[in-house]
Amino acid sequence: MSPTPTRFRDPGRSDYSFRDSVLVRCPRCDRIAHFGRAGVVCRSCGRSGPVAAGTWPALWLRTATRHGELWAYNLEHLDLIRRFVEARLRERDPWYEHGRKMTCVARLPAWVKSAKNRAEVLRAIDRMRASVVEG
Ligand SMILES: [Zn+2]
Repeated sequence: MSPTPTRFRDPGRSDYSFRDSVLVRCPRCDRIAHFGRAGVVCRSCGRSGPVAAGTWPALWLRTATRHGELWAYNLEHLDLIRRFVEARLRERDPWYEHGRKMTCVARLPAWVKSAKNRAEVLRAIDRMRASVVEG
């Protein structure tokens, strides 16, 4: 008996929609911090304020794999990627076929979408998630 296929439906969110609250490495203390409209807010060292115009602090959720780097803006973004990678059946909104291909799921590199890398990619995702829980 084969397991019940997991369905995944691309909610059509772009990378940009996750940028309101991004997990970053605090530029002052190097621990996990939030980056949003108010700038970097760090609970560890109390830093709170904007970063230099046009710059971005380093993302917290990033990890190297044999195939390339995997990253996400925040846990919601990471979860979306995880559900996509886990899924056996992938569904797309009808408009997907009509040229709007900029959703964050559609933009994932081919090695992330490859079934043969699934276990490795899921491990990398879980590693990143654990770094937030423990951090
Ligand atoms: Zn800090």
